[in-house]
Amino acid sequence: MLHDTSVLMDEKRVFEPNEEVKKRAHVKDWEAEIEKGKDLEKYWGEKAEQFEWFKKWDKVLDDSNKPFYKWFTGGKINLAYNAVDRWIETEKRNQIAILYVNERGHERKLTYYELYLEVNKLANALKNLGVKKGDTVSMYLPMCPELLIAMLACNKIGAVHSVVYSGLSVGAVVDRMNDAKVKVLFTADGTFRRGKIIDLKKISDEAVKMCPTIETIVVVKNTGNPIEISEISGREIYYDRLIEGEPSECEAEKMDAEDPLFMLYTSGSTGKPKGVLHTTAGYMVGVATTLKYIFDIHPDDLWWCTADIGWITGHSYIIYGPLLLGTTTVVYEGAPDYPDPGIWWKVVEKYGVTKFYTAPTAIRHLMRFGNKYTNLYNLNSLKILGTVGESINPEAWIWYYKNVGKDNCPIVDTWWQTETGMHLISPLPVSPLKPGSATKAFPGIDAQVVDEDGKEVPLGKGGYLVIKTPWPSMFRTLYQDKERFLEVYWKDFPGCIYKSGDMARQDEDGYFWLQGRSDDVLKISGHRIGTAEVESAFVSHLAVVEAAVIGKDDPIKGEVIKAFLILKEGKKLDSQLIDELKRHVRHELGPVAVVGEIVQVQTLPKTRSGKIMRRVLRAREKGEDVGDTSTLEE
Ligand code: ATP
Ligand code: MG
Repeated sequence: MLHDTSVLMDEKRVFEPNEEVKKRAHVKDWEAEIEKGKDLEKYWGEKAEQFEWFKKWDKVLDDSNKPFYKWFTGGKINLAYNAVDRWIETEKRNQIAILYVNERGHERKLTYYELYLEVNKLANALKNLGVKKGDTVSMYLPMCPELLIAMLACNKIGAVHSVVYSGLSVGAVVDRMNDAKVKVLFTADGTFRRGKIIDLKKISDEAVKMCPTIETIVVVKNTGNPIEISEISGREIYYDRLIEGEPSECEAEKMDAEDPLFMLYTSGSTGKPKGVLHTTAGYMVGVATTLKYIFDIHPDDLWWCTADIGWITGHSYIIYGPLLLGTTTVVYEGAPDYPDPGIWWKVVEKYGVTKFYTAPTAIRHLMRFGNKYTNLYNLNSLKILGTVGESINPEAWIWYYKNVGKDNCPIVDTWWQTETGMHLISPLPVSPLKPGSATKAFPGIDAQVVDEDGKEVPLGKGGYLVIKTPWPSMFRTLYQDKERFLEVYWKDFPGCIYKSGDMARQDEDGYFWLQGRSDDVLKISGHRIGTAEVESAFVSHLAVVEAAVIGKDDPIKGEVIKAFLILKEGKKLDSQLIDELKRHVRHELGPVAVVGEIVQVQTLPKTRSGKIMRRVLRAREKGEDVGDTSTLEE
């Protein structure tokens, strides 16, 4: 019998809300908003009023066939119309919608009106290529304006997009195209990466050979990299040529609320990536509402989310959330440390970014440079900071808060997944914050921690994080795999409760502390221990930059901790440091956290979205097959 973890990170610091942020905030009373969210239909129905509907919905939530929930049934709407067309009759017409910057410092700005013209031209061109409502179009593109334009053009005519992250290799591209029976593929002459140009066309050429459904390949000139295309065959065409002469008006397709919007794959941290399907209206309501309230978006904001559009964070919070709110979104093509680790702060200063959203892996990386680069630039324009992707360890939180936020910006730690479409657990800017905690569920979300039988565990105890009621931007299925959808997410807990696959605990204030994946959990002397807190304990030691832990078989304890550590530059792991680290972790977490082995490494296996892949470490340790590594970073 396993006990749920009783070793707890003892993080007690609380950061009270900043008065200036509070004054402006859309939501001033967090608890009252959570109360309002308890009436699901009323709450989300009100939020849906922010859009222009061709026809209003009949029912906010249809739960007659659980877990195949439907939202805003009977409603007719178009995403691109609401993200672009709607604004051009307003004062936003000449406001910058997309601010593109790349690592060479080149910039391109598109106003809402310019974006409108571009989207329409491409939408018309896609129709001419024979793309119809419900067809799938794929993008294997860098972070360039054409990627956003292509996604919006699909929405405009009712085509479903499947964006493939531009860092993936041939095999992964082929799988994704064939899964979706893609008709048209967008690719580019290249993408800028740390001073080099990666030739995407070459990779897509390889892939296309194995993708029989592709009829047309559209090539964006992004880098000026000389490439060969055979326009003669009629199958390949430059983007510029494709839209040449196309009319700049295009009527928006009146989509059913539940029509498919896009498919997208998960990061593949815990296994083979899952193809997730999102639908139209509910997704729009979810992403716009969460972005507006969690990052407190106002018309004068300059929003920058550093994710890649190839992942859900980019879909929801680089393109759709910001444009649905009519704000300006920064699209940055490049790495966080090229030409030097000050580049992000340089961009913040140059353009006056007000809200900034990134991942713990990037923060831990930039933290190595102390305050050298954050002090070189004026970061006073920043008002709210956010993180997503993994638990943020308190050390990194504090560094971010002090050096980037200058003790003046709330940090919103947002927990969510490709499947959830939108943030589900996160503070609002007016919430008291605890470093390392994602705080509470967003209004309208019923998150709980339960045991194996689905019973709620007492505060302080660890368990499975589940969501008990539906939310508008939830995925509707796994693409062409209803069985796996039911099996993975809905089978374990009776009553149609969504199983997130993550472990968590709630503290005495009801704050959630994410503990890691249930697949990665350690089982030591009958205790279940999440990876996040053990890794945080390691990282809180001065010598350690990054840590990943797995369970190592032990004849007495069942498992003990094996830790893989990246140490500060110049540090070496000798027996003295090993002893010190063991003592440190024991001191932080208590006697249950038995460290069996510590090894020093130069890098950790991560997904291309920056998450540690513990299953790779585990498989190597046990000499087993590593499984699907299509999203593993090189
Ligand atoms: P796969 O499902 O293929 O294993 P993945 O779960 O990494 O991949 P994503 O949907 O990109 O794919 O990531 C969602 C996961 O990321 C969550 O389940 C959680 O484990 C982690 N995560 C995201 N945000 C946070 C956060 N703020 N705190 C802790 N963990 C987070
Ligand atoms: Mg997942």
